[in-house]
Amino acid sequence: MGELRLIGRPASPGVALSRLFVLAEKDGPAAAPPVGDPTSEALRLSAAIARAIGELEAVSQSVGEDAREILEFQIALLGDDALAEPAFASIAVGDSADLAWRAALEAQVADYASAEDEYFRARSADLADLRDRVLRILSGEVQQTVPAGAVLVARDLPPSQFLGIEWRSGAAIALAGGSPTSHVALLARARGVPMVVGLGADVMSIASGQEAMVDGELGTLVIAPDDVTRAAARSRETEIKQRQAIAERYERAPARMPSGEAVAVMINTAGPDELSLLDPAICDGIGLVRSEFLFHGPVLPDEETQYRAYHRILEWAGGRPVTIRTLDAGGDKPVQGLTIDDEGNPFLGTRGIRLSLLKPDVFRVQLRALCRAATHGTLKVMLPMVATPRDLTQGRQHLEAVASDLAARKVPHAVPPLGVMVEVPAAAIAIDRFDADFYSIGSNDLIQYVMAAARDIASLADYADATDPAVLSLIVQTVGHGKRTGREVSLCGDAASDPAIVPHLLRAGLRSLSVSASSVGLVKAAIAGALER
Ligand code: PEP
Ligand code: MG
Repeated sequence: MGELRLIGRPASPGVALSRLFVLAEKDGPAAAPPVGDPTSEALRLSAAIARAIGELEAVSQSVGEDAREILEFQIALLGDDALAEPAFASIAVGDSADLAWRAALEAQVADYASAEDEYFRARSADLADLRDRVLRILSGEVQQTVPAGAVLVARDLPPSQFLGIEWRSGAAIALAGGSPTSHVALLARARGVPMVVGLGADVMSIASGQEAMVDGELGTLVIAPDDVTRAAARSRETEIKQRQAIAERYERAPARMPSGEAVAVMINTAGPDELSLLDPAICDGIGLVRSEFLFHGPVLPDEETQYRAYHRILEWAGGRPVTIRTLDAGGDKPVQGLTIDDEGNPFLGTRGIRLSLLKPDVFRVQLRALCRAATHGTLKVMLPMVATPRDLTQGRQHLEAVASDLAARKVPHAVPPLGVMVEVPAAAIAIDRFDADFYSIGSNDLIQYVMAAARDIASLADYADATDPAVLSLIVQTVGHGKRTGREVSLCGDAASDPAIVPHLLRAGLRSLSVSASSVGLVKAAIAGALER
């Protein structure tokens, strides 16, 4: 038999070559257990939930800070009476504890799994984990043991089960379903376990024991790899390990160029959940918080919800500067009930600050939450998609109005510096017209608008070149304006996370970059000139 190559989505980088272990699936209760009276069934369920909490607490004692947060989230869910309420109601009308719990949790898992947003879909795995853990305890079954060093194949993998496995070298995860934004994917990345998701249901019918190769960067699972694939895997493995070793060496130290000149390396984030897995010591602050993470649910977040989230982010940063971008909805980021659905070309449509100015009530809720959070750290606020000085002046008027309203009501607050994203060519070309407190170049959008190549069309990826002279000249011009006026200029688009592009950005004069957290080490190495041959 030749090799079988399955293609999924990359979730955690790295290459592994090992034996497959396919996690057996339960297909419902094996035999319906005899149903006791409602009182004893309710007691059985309460005891199983208490035991599940105990198990999770025990695992959380032996793991690091990052994993503990995830387990504490699950413990809090289990400890919330609202979760089990429907199950106890079914028990009261004669259902068994097992049946009642399964039905109650399945309804909630399905609810999350059908959410439009990937973040919420990913959370359904946490609930499915709790469902299965309590069911296992009710049935008296023992947990399956995964052989150390195996390539684990499963439909999905709950975080608590991930944490119960000893991840030796060679081990990897290949999931039929799952998502790169799930908690387990975050854990796998943090632990360096290669992981591929979305391989499709057929992967579950492959027999355990065969040799397999997982490439977590390409998103592939190869069953029975031939000699050529094995050799390629080994050389990619060596290359990835070398890169990781370099990244680790540089990650925690301040970034310096060979001349000794310092470069600020900050991180981009999509919210506090993601930050909880990171050590703030790796960065000089947060250069971009994409506040869209708050706007994924069916209802718009209120002031209190936003204030709490911004507060958590500032707390994590511990005094380091944090730049939160106001809502950048529209384009490829629709928000139900807020963005305009029928625009022919949404990237050139009512996006970012344009939408905020069109919906001042929504904008002011966010600005109020930001001004209140500003008392808890070094907060800066920036506006996305600014194209004319009017966008900035009107944005500033809203900020000032919100601040004076808070002052009148004696609500503790501060007025953060207000910057603009330089991501529309009009702003970069005439940068001296924009009297902002600071500038952050959004190279992703700047490139797509300069090159007239939509960022979501894969076949146009070659046009998305940050080193194109047209793009670089706009960066040089923006940096020059910052130097002349004494205002900070940084770059927070994906170009800054690419170690091969970093030298070009430094030559353009940038001394502040905001990058994805996973690329901090290699970016600092590139700044130090350690990657040049
Ligand atoms: C950018 O455009 O470079 C940027 C950082 O913003 P986003 O990718 O969120 O549009
Ligand atoms: Mg952008």
